[in-house]
Amino acid sequence: MKKITSWGKYPLIDANINTPSTSHNLVNELHCGIARGLGRSYGDSALSENIIVSEQLNHFISFDEDTGILLCEAGVSLDEILLNFVPKGWFLSVTPGTKFVTVGGAIASDVHGKNHHLEGSFCDHVISITLITNEQKITCSKEDNPDLFLATCGGMGLTGVITEAAFKLKPITSAYINQKVVKAKNLETALALFEHYRNVTYSVAWIDCLSTDDNLGRSLLMLGEHADKGKLTTHKNGLLNMPCDMPSFLLNKYTIQAFNSAYYNKQLKEEVNNTVHYDPFFYPLDSINNWNRMYGGNGFTQYQFVIPKEAGKEGLTEILAAIAESKQGSFLAVLKILGEGNRNHLSFPMEGYTLALDFKLNDKLFSLLDRLDIIVRKYKGRLYLSKDVRMSAEMFKAGYPQWEEFQAVRKEYGVDELYHSLQSKRIGL
Ligand SMILES: Cc1cc2nc3c(=O)[nH]c(=O)nc-3n(C[C@H](O)[C@H](O)[C@H](O)COP(=O)(O)OP(=O)(O)OC[C@H]3O[C@@H](n4cnc5c(N)ncnc54)[C@H](O)[C@@H]3O)c2cc1C
Repeated sequence: MKKITSWGKYPLIDANINTPSTSHNLVNELHCGIARGLGRSYGDSALSENIIVSEQLNHFISFDEDTGILLCEAGVSLDEILLNFVPKGWFLSVTPGTKFVTVGGAIASDVHGKNHHLEGSFCDHVISITLITNEQKITCSKEDNPDLFLATCGGMGLTGVITEAAFKLKPITSAYINQKVVKAKNLETALALFEHYRNVTYSVAWIDCLSTDDNLGRSLLMLGEHADKGKLTTHKNGLLNMPCDMPSFLLNKYTIQAFNSAYYNKQLKEEVNNTVHYDPFFYPLDSINNWNRMYGGNGFTQYQFVIPKEAGKEGLTEILAAIAESKQGSFLAVLKILGEGNRNHLSFPMEGYTLALDFKLNDKLFSLLDRLDIIVRKYKGRLYLSKDVRMSAEMFKAGYPQWEEFQAVRKEYGVDELYHSLQSKRIGL
């Protein structure tokens, strides 16, 4: 038994940790519990009494330079893919805001990036997946075992342990991004700017969620396109490190307010254009190792929801007003526009706006989040499983109406009794 937690550092549990060195061992050893990659999910989706860590399933298998299709083991990280393939002129078709996630984790969460409105989520670029279900290895794709494919993409590890996947990279001619940062004085302007720049490949807005009244939702919108010119240089890791948990009192409503205000006002001009390397553009938080220690020993959570586009302004206004009123500031609040969702049973994206808010854990937080749940439900939205640590079964089932089809596939492949996480039990799967 070993102590283990995920990125939000809550909960901390004792678990049996199994780190198979080959997928062959995995078939013969243990097939129950939950798979785990690099533990970058915030809550309890990768926690169970038995955990199967993909760390050693980390080999590249083949790459087709004509199609950009990479076949690799599920424990390969996006970081390793970038280090190996950027110099050859290839980039990830979809990337989340950290490169320290595995291919298995990216598929299980069907992660989205800043380009969802134009290029979909990670699994929209996946050709095939091999996984261990019930003592056997199965390959699934849109053509082979399509029901298992729809359940595994975004299925939070609940259909088995992914061992290999084939997916498409996209060609680039430079490692640089032409970036434009635009100031939005409030939410209405931010949403109008998202629409105005809808054809730009990458967009994301950082929101000052403590601002109120006419400034409610003031933001910096960051837009980007791959540059044509510039060397294919990769990133460097591990320069800065947060050595230990910070005292949790350092993050309070005053320091958060001061930070938010300084961040918004740091850009003086209404619009700034420049060229930046892909690393600070996509992964600003990766520059400090263990930045999650900033929230102190009690940990933190990320509340990420999506609400349909037509409810956008009204729903986001109601939520931001509830947060500002609670004075429980979120240090980091990120807004993205999402395009149409796909058919995967439990994938998070749907056409609309998604807001991700980091909150330090304290005894008042969950009652605020319960209030936010009511608003999200009212506007027919849902919460992201990869960030969640507390949603109720009722909230989950309301947001993910395909959960019954998902369960039926799990039963059909005989995995419903084998794979489970603390989260899956809590949300009634
Ligand atoms: C700073 C930061 C920024 C982020 N930004 C984004 C973002 O922009 N967009 C976004 O969508 N997500 C984002 N995330 C969330 C992150 O991308 C997902 O949680 C991702 O799944 C983590 O991958 P992992 O390898 O760490 O998986 P883990 O956290 O270890 O596991 C996550 C889930 O994947 C399952 N899983 C992992 N490996 C396997 C496998 N081999 N087989 C089957 N199931 C498996 C686990 O069971 C679990 O349910 C962010 C996280 C952080 C910390």
